[in-house]
Amino acid sequence: MSALLDQAFLRRLIEAVARTIIDHADELTALDSAIGDGDHGANMRRGFEAVLAELDTLAAKPLPEALKALGTQLVMKVGGASGPLYGTLFMSLGKSLPERLDREGVAQALDAAITAVKARGKAETGQKTMLDVLVPVQQALASGAGPAAVAARANEAADATVPMKATRGRASFLGDRSIGHMDPGARSSALIVGAVASCLGASS
Ligand code: ADP
Ligand code: MG
Repeated sequence: MSALLDQAFLRRLIEAVARTIIDHADELTALDSAIGDGDHGANMRRGFEAVLAELDTLAAKPLPEALKALGTQLVMKVGGASGPLYGTLFMSLGKSLPERLDREGVAQALDAAITAVKARGKAETGQKTMLDVLVPVQQALASGAGPAAVAARANEAADATVPMKATRGRASFLGDRSIGHMDPGARSSALIVGAVASCLGASS
């Protein structure tokens, strides 16, 4: 994890996450068209295009400050339900990261960030949202899983939202008709985790 302190690595990490989301915007839109209002891809693309535009400034900051600034960009640019929630996730992660970036410290910081997302969205796991990916990812990290295993867990968890019935967010308006589709926010969370894990895997 010490590689995270390196500014060039931080730049690659932010860029990889942003490009992954932008490259999958159409897929996120299709998922949100099935059980929402079809804007998740466009929302996320707008947010991460703003992040890319600020890439040099963001990557020049120490990691906690970079995460807070990234979260602020997402709150300002993504919109919808997911903008404030992803914004809260990254800002809180920036605030909670310990100085020593070992796995335990990162897992604890992610736990604190997830608690903040739950409070912001008044949501829990099992409601077919991004939390259904973020929570198992945090648990995998806390139990010592490496980058590839954490990414695999994120994808499994996103798949596991397919049979769930949404009880939070716009998809909950559909009731039982939300069953049978992957939650768009769960997919975008898995994409973010996958991009981070690829960078960490390539660096270790
Ligand atoms: P909107 O629903 O306002 O159109 P988006 O389409 O950008 O916003 O984002 C939808 C995603 O946000 C959902 O797929 C879900 O994962 C997530 N989401 C919505 N409400 C909540 C909530 N209260 N807590 C956690 N995640 C939520
Ligand atoms: Mg939407």
